[in-house]
Amino acid sequence: MNHFEYRDNRLFCENVDIEHIAEEVGTPFYVYSSATLERHLKVFREPFAQVDHLICYAMKANSSLAVMKLLFSQGAGADIVSAGELFKTLKAGVDPRKVVFSGVGKTAEEMEYALKTGIFCFNVESLPELEALNAVALRLGKTAPVSIRVNPDVDPKTHPYISTGLKESKFGVAWKDAVTAYQRAHELEAIEVAGLDCHIGSQITQVEPFIDALRKLKELVAKLRGMGIPLHHLDLGGGLGINYNQEAPPHPAEYGRHIVEETRGLDLKLVFEPGRVIVGNAGVLVTRVIYDKLGETKRFLVVDAAMNDLIRPAFYGSHHRMTPVHLHDGRTLHKVDVVGPVCETGDFLARDRELPELRAGELLAVHSAGAYGAVMGSTYNARPLTPEVLVKGGEWWVTRRRQTFDDLIALEFIPRETGG
Ligand SMILES: *Cc1c(COP(=O)(O)O)cnc(C)c1O
Repeated sequence: MNHFEYRDNRLFCENVDIEHIAEEVGTPFYVYSSATLERHLKVFREPFAQVDHLICYAMKANSSLAVMKLLFSQGAGADIVSAGELFKTLKAGVDPRKVVFSGVGKTAEEMEYALKTGIFCFNVESLPELEALNAVALRLGKTAPVSIRVNPDVDPKTHPYISTGLKESKFGVAWKDAVTAYQRAHELEAIEVAGLDCHIGSQITQVEPFIDALRKLKELVAKLRGMGIPLHHLDLGGGLGINYNQEAPPHPAEYGRHIVEETRGLDLKLVFEPGRVIVGNAGVLVTRVIYDKLGETKRFLVVDAAMNDLIRPAFYGSHHRMTPVHLHDGRTLHKVDVVGPVCETGDFLARDRELPELRAGELLAVHSAGAYGAVMGSTYNARPLTPEVLVKGGEWWVTRRRQTFDDLIALEFIPRETGG
């Protein structure tokens, strides 16, 4: 459920008319609903009300400070994958004791920053990383809490680019090496074994892969305990899918119920790293039609948002539902490619999409754009980064302004020797 609804044929975000934002902010822009964000976090958390748990929002999905602040103020922690994310998450007021640090390529500098911050846990993805973390912690006179991210080799049945728990994936420690990794972690002086971690992929639309992974993890927990290696938490990662089009992902309540059942009596704190399921349907990208262009064999709707603003269609072939911001009676349906102004054939937001006729100057809403949207934005073709707007009830704020042309060149330097 989300809070983007039509009232008198006009699209609203909560109590704000989206066209009104467009007039003030210009297009394109992202708009997020506070009520939807809060609801999604609440619904995700509800099944775990009776068990010890921690929700570490995977901020790579949407690292808007305002969005994070809202989630942190509701009790969420964060899953981070870089020092930059740690910096941002602290700026948004996260409790450092609720931060888990994932990622295959943590550098010594990043480890030091996180150790000094005092985070909840490092999700270590390889033996060399474990040794490096031990060395950094020793040097600082600190102990690093660690989970090993294991690769349970289950097929999440999602897009190959977002499958992360298969044997051939770069993520995690191979299943067959997991025990050795834990033995080593247990030995190392500045490492404290805290938990066990896995994350099998993203946009998963069935419960089974999660349960398959969980059952394998339970075997490992038993084995490690048998070896005298104590564990305090089980991190089940993120990856729960959302409805973009025709998918029927399990409701978070169902997902949660299965997990609670499957972990009963395990005596481990449950950690989750949801990203998309919290923010995906809480955001819409609003764009304006520049031209309705009739090609030789196709009709193109040329809009002012492009792959640099929302790369998912070009990158993963993702489907984003689209609706006109104003619904008009009697408009004919056309099959169109919705494309941006960027000079790439891959620059499309939708292909062969049936849409009511839209005229130059009219607004189009690209739905389910709250996750992996703005965060993947770039300035390709010297297009300034898209602004972000947060709505709460009848109020709204520009939480990231549009980049200016001066911002575009702010980091650059022209050596005298280049001429002139
Ligand atoms: C990306 C990622 C997540 C979040 O995935 P979603 O599909 O957005 O829920 C969680 N944990 C890790 C380690 C990730 O890389």
